Amino acid sequence: LQQKVTQSEKLELVSHLAAAVSHEVRNPLTASRGFMQLLLEDEVEPERRKRFLQIAIDELDRAEGIIRDYLTFAKPETEHTQTLYVPDEIHRVVEILTPLANMHTVHILTHTTLCCVKGSPHLFTQSLLNIAKNAIEAMTEGGTLTIRLEQEGDKVCISLADTGTGMTEKQIQRLGEPYFSTKGTRGTGLGMMVTYRIISAMGGQIQVNSTVGKGTTFRILLPASRQPVPL
Ligand code: ADP
Ligand code: MG
Repeated sequence: LQQKVTQSEKLELVSHLAAAVSHEVRNPLTASRGFMQLLLEDEVEPERRKRFLQIAIDELDRAEGIIRDYLTFAKPETEHTQTLYVPDEIHRVVEILTPLANMHTVHILTHTTLCCVKGSPHLFTQSLLNIAKNAIEAMTEGGTLTIRLEQEGDKVCISLADTGTGMTEKQIQRLGEPYFSTKGTRGTGLGMMVTYRIISAMGGQIQVNSTVGKGTTFRILLPASRQPVPL
């Protein structure tokens, strides 16, 4: 019974995310279309024309950002819970983020150990990606992202520590609230909400420790799963 409940919760989460994306993406697309429509008119001053085009591009970027924060990996038709080797998932995320890290002169260090959790690979990768991406974005002048994987008894702990801007107490409290972002038009404020939902559906929790000007550490705690016996 336990297994069935988790399974249906997981499907519910995926379809919720898909529905949310189509809802969220509609606004920037509509706005972008509106400004392009205005450009169709014959007499548009070059100055206005430029401004409208810039708004249309920004709105399209925003739509892209929303899709990225929500569903980089979600594949509803193939979602099912399986045993995941956490080091593989971490290395995958590091690989994906290496270009972004290079752009920010961020060095990524990983310490992993072989341990497993149960979950959907796509959603789990998405949740790690959202946290790691925020960490890199918080290091505007370069720094180090240290990802450490440990197993303590029946708990797996993944910590992601950055040397970035840090967060105030108030900002920490608002983490996971939809649309909470300090990145202006560059942020969606949806990444952490998605991450909290995924980790909670996996039976886990997230802890945050942060000091302004020093950096932030996220700790993801998840129930450990036994390694499958090799065939
Ligand atoms: P977004 O990245 O689009 O702003 P998120 O939901 O991913 O939205 O994050 C919400 C906010 O939480 C960010 O705008 C930022 O202010 C804060 N935040 C998250 N992670 C970090 C971090 N590692 N360092 C500093 N601030 C962070
Ligand atoms: Mg983010």
